[in-house]
Amino acid sequence: MSLSTIPHVTDLLPIVLSSQIDHNHDGGRNAHPAVTYAFEPLQSQPIQSAAPAIVPDDDDKADSIPKHRVEHSPSNLAACQSAPCKRGGHKIELGELRFGTYTLFFHTGEMFWTYKHWRCVTNKQINTIKDIAKGEPQNAPGYDTLTEQAKEHFRLALEAGRVTDTTFKGIPEPVYKVEIAPQGRATCQNKECKDAKVKSKKGELRLGNLVRFQGHKSWKYKHWGCATVDEYRRIRDVLAAGELEGLEDLDP
Ligand SMILES: [Zn+2]
Ligand SMILES: [Zn+2]
Repeated sequence: MSLSTIPHVTDLLPIVLSSQIDHNHDGGRNAHPAVTYAFEPLQSQPIQSAAPAIVPDDDDKADSIPKHRVEHSPSNLAACQSAPCKRGGHKIELGELRFGTYTLFFHTGEMFWTYKHWRCVTNKQINTIKDIAKGEPQNAPGYDTLTEQAKEHFRLALEAGRVTDTTFKGIPEPVYKVEIAPQGRATCQNKECKDAKVKSKKGELRLGNLVRFQGHKSWKYKHWGCATVDEYRRIRDVLAAGELEGLEDLDP
């Protein structure tokens, strides 16, 4: 496919943002099926995937796993363990900063990770992770996986001995790019394409979304036509700010 046959991202935006979109027409790469969130693939994973698959079988191993860690939640499945949140069934949002505790489950004798909202972390827990980190924020388990903003909040909390801003969620801003697929390897993350294992073909315009998972960053792709209306809106904002990666490379 030559570049000239590919719809230009800025040409498509007004079309997809207009109210004329038929969301129900047949699939295919120019379809706009029902909204699926960009991070949806991660949400479909079981809660356990958020924790390392480590079950200590002796005391040495148990000792080597820190009692606490911090991270951005890779799913929206984990319930917060603070009493009020637990009663209310409040879960931790996708991407939200969360505080993990390696916990013994009495009934089975197994260890596993439980989590709290950042705002629900007690002063005692802040001081415990401060001890684990020997007073240096950057030594805390999971610190390296945080965004710069979340690192700053974590650092302030260690300094103060408490969470200093209970409104802080720390959900990273989505990062997008557009590009012509250099290969045909990446499966489109739109649910219908994903179920049918449809890949973005070499030469096709695709939307990349930077996803964090347990401290790793990777790009997930969708056919340009498979992005959701919500994504197009956010891309429009990113475009308006002149911050859409890859745009200048699309021009022949
Ligand atoms: Zn909570
Ligand atoms: Zn697709």
